[in-house]
Amino acid sequence: MKRENLVYSEEIKEILLKKGIAPSFQRIKIYEYLISHRVHPSAERVYIDLVGFIPTLSRTTVHSTLNLFADKGMARRLFIDGNLVRFDIDSSDHMHFKCTKCGEVYDILKSSPKVTSPEHKVLSGEMYLYGICKKCKEE
Ligand SMILES: [Zn+2]
Ligand SMILES: [Zn+2]
Repeated sequence: MKRENLVYSEEIKEILLKKGIAPSFQRIKIYEYLISHRVHPSAERVYIDLVGFIPTLSRTTVHSTLNLFADKGMARRLFIDGNLVRFDIDSSDHMHFKCTKCGEVYDILKSSPKVTSPEHKVLSGEMYLYGICKKCKEE
């Protein structure tokens, strides 16, 4: 293994430990995948992409790890695809756009407008936008 990769894993280990998560090899690899693949993957996508490198990986582990990250506030669950849950490691305030042609989910409006209610106290929210992406529009 290259030295850079080792350092990277060490950093992820620290992040997981700080959140009170035991840094198992599989959890480190799943976190690393989310950082390096900013495509808002589903659990199935993470599983398919990683099982080639980690033959002992199971779908159950991927599901429980992603849900653990989300519960600890380290990842966001996106319901932009209806029942298919996608995961986003970027927990900063932003909105999502889904291309109905290619299915790609993009980050948009990094500084999303605050939606408030005069009667209720808004704590969080998700807004999903749908359309044709730049790439598909040019085809
Ligand atoms: Zn598209
Ligand atoms: Zn995002």
